[in-house]
This record gives sequence, C-alpha cells and structure tokens, in this order.
Amino acid sequence: MAWYWWLFIFFMMGGFGGLANAGRQALATRHERQLQRIEAHRQERLALEAAQKPPEPICGCTHHLAKHDKAGKCHELVETPTAWDENKKPVRFEAGTCNCQQYVGPQPLSQVYADELTDL
Ligand SMILES: [Zn+2]
Ligand SMILES: [Zn+2]
Repeated sequence: MAWYWWLFIFFMMGGFGGLANAGRQALATRHERQLQRIEAHRQERLALEAAQKPPEPICGCTHHLAKHDKAGKCHELVETPTAWDENKKPVRFEAGTCNCQQYVGPQPLSQVYADELTDL
C-alpha cells in the first residue's frame, strides 16, 4: 500500500472525527449560551411584570386583609397544634381561628386607591 493511503486512513479515522467533534462542541456551547440568554430575558420580563403589579393586601399573619373584620380580627381558619413530640415538633392539630388582630400601629404609607396603569 502506498504511504498516502495511511494518511488517508488517518484523516478518516481521527483527523476528520476530531474536527467534527470540535465543531459539534462549539455548536453545543453556543446553544447553551443562547439558552442562558433566553432564560435571563424571561426572568427580566417576570421581574418587570411583578414590579408593575400593585401590592397584594396581605396581612402580617399571611392572610388576605379581606379575611379580617372591621375590628381587625382575622377569621381565617388555621391549624393549631395540640400535641408536641420530644423535639417540640407539633404532632396533632386542631382547627382554630387565626389570632391576628391586624397591625394597628402607624401606617408606613397612607392607603390610597390608584387605578392600574393601562398604557405603559
Ligand atoms: Zn392578620
Ligand atoms: Zn390571619
């Protein structure tokens, strides 16, 4: 066999394979970066949407303000622990009402009603 056959075989086996591999690797890296870019874009959009929404009227007891009466008493049902294990972890619960009296101190900001912006 002539020497150039060996050269040919070398390129078929390894030379071109390596080149193709490098190409595939570069494509995969670019694809990954594109995915990261898309993900970053999506999170930016979500953050913008969250910033434009008016704050939810949630009380410090994690219940909606609509669950509180005029006096501020919360009427949401909650699970009250009635028994604890040796690690002070509650093991039994009983239905009860939330004991929240709602925050009655100074308001950080006066509550005003503002229409949601329609054209941004
Ligand atoms: Zn509350
Ligand atoms: Zn509550």
